[in-house]
Amino acid sequence: MFKQLIKEVIIDESNELYDLVIEDGIYTAIEKSNSRSFPTTDIDYVFEGNGKVAIPGFVETHIHLDKALIADRLPNKSGTLKEALEVTGKLKSTFTREDVEERAEKALQMLIKNGTTHVRTHSEFDPVGGFHGFEVIMALKEKYKDYINMQVVAFPQEGIIKSPGTEEMMRQALEMGADVVGGIPYNDPDPEEHLNIVFNLAKEFDKPIDLHQDFYDTSENQTIELVAQKTIENGFVGRMAVGHLTSLGDCSGAELERIITLMAKAGISVMSLPMTDLHLGGRKDEKNVRRAVTPIRKLRDGGVNVVLATNNIRNPFTPYGNGDLLQVAMLAIPVAHLGGADDLPTVLPMITNKAAEAIGIEDYGFKVGNPGTIVVLDTKRYQDAIIDIPKRLLSIFKGKIILENNDNVHINLPS
Ligand SMILES: [Zn+2]
Repeated sequence: MFKQLIKEVIIDESNELYDLVIEDGIYTAIEKSNSRSFPTTDIDYVFEGNGKVAIPGFVETHIHLDKALIADRLPNKSGTLKEALEVTGKLKSTFTREDVEERAEKALQMLIKNGTTHVRTHSEFDPVGGFHGFEVIMALKEKYKDYINMQVVAFPQEGIIKSPGTEEMMRQALEMGADVVGGIPYNDPDPEEHLNIVFNLAKEFDKPIDLHQDFYDTSENQTIELVAQKTIENGFVGRMAVGHLTSLGDCSGAELERIITLMAKAGISVMSLPMTDLHLGGRKDEKNVRRAVTPIRKLRDGGVNVVLATNNIRNPFTPYGNGDLLQVAMLAIPVAHLGGADDLPTVLPMITNKAAEAIGIEDYGFKVGNPGTIVVLDTKRYQDAIIDIPKRLLSIFKGKIILENNDNVHINLPS
């Protein structure tokens, strides 16, 4: 039995101190420090929290590990989506298995070092490029299973219908162990047919769905209502997530209310990806350049689970990023008007428990019986957990110490 004690940490907005016990990787006690009833004998490891804030780890709900860290190879000079697609198309044909492995692993380690304990990654394949990238990501999932909980989305980046053979590849990817059925309705000539294929695969394999919904500055070609209707019709309420959804930023009034009500009914989670959407959106605007980010507050207030994620790290779509969700959250605060006194407390859940809910992690959180996963932040007020952008002092994943950063940084990761 290996017993760990995390002493005197703040775990919620009450800012009260708690002690947590992990035994063989599972929480066995969580109690207020001043009323602790459990004995502290036979403890193998003690962390003195000293009143710092602890969270059950950051949850990265949408990232492309396979396309990370390529920004310096072939620049996207205009910064537009068009050039990003062109540049990435050229670079993709040069990706070898070793190259994807090196970059994806480096990006994954960036996430882990910043306190990310759960990640959903979109792994793409197509009949031209084959499965080598996907196989690398599946191997990383296995290699890092004691360091981070990874979900892999079978992602048809080049479309399904316009890229013949992709539907069969999706079936194979799911047979190889993909956790989620991906989709990209805006990148096929008939979005409805695309969606039908995605739903049929999800039913066949009993998996949730995660779509790259749209990337539009305007709402005229939006398909989110169709997605919501089909989610309800196909019995996928609560098992549908969509990324970007920038088109919704162009809706207002009764139209927006109608769509959000339908989305809430369909139990759709939304991953807003501000680092990418701000970079690529509104490029044709000559003044008062729009933010081109999905309406986070309206979605939240309408009962839709809306969360924040990274999407890309240093590639033609997003030429920056450190794999730190706190920086994404900090960016979203002014961008989405989330800095009001009542709004600010709703942001941390968008990269923690609401994010866990969006990707269906049921054993997330400080609860006896849950995996003993914790990240301690160098801040003493729960409300400041984002705006301080605090150092990560400790990261434990299922009882395994991944990072300690008190006087010296100690990182335990595969080489
Ligand atoms: Zn994406």
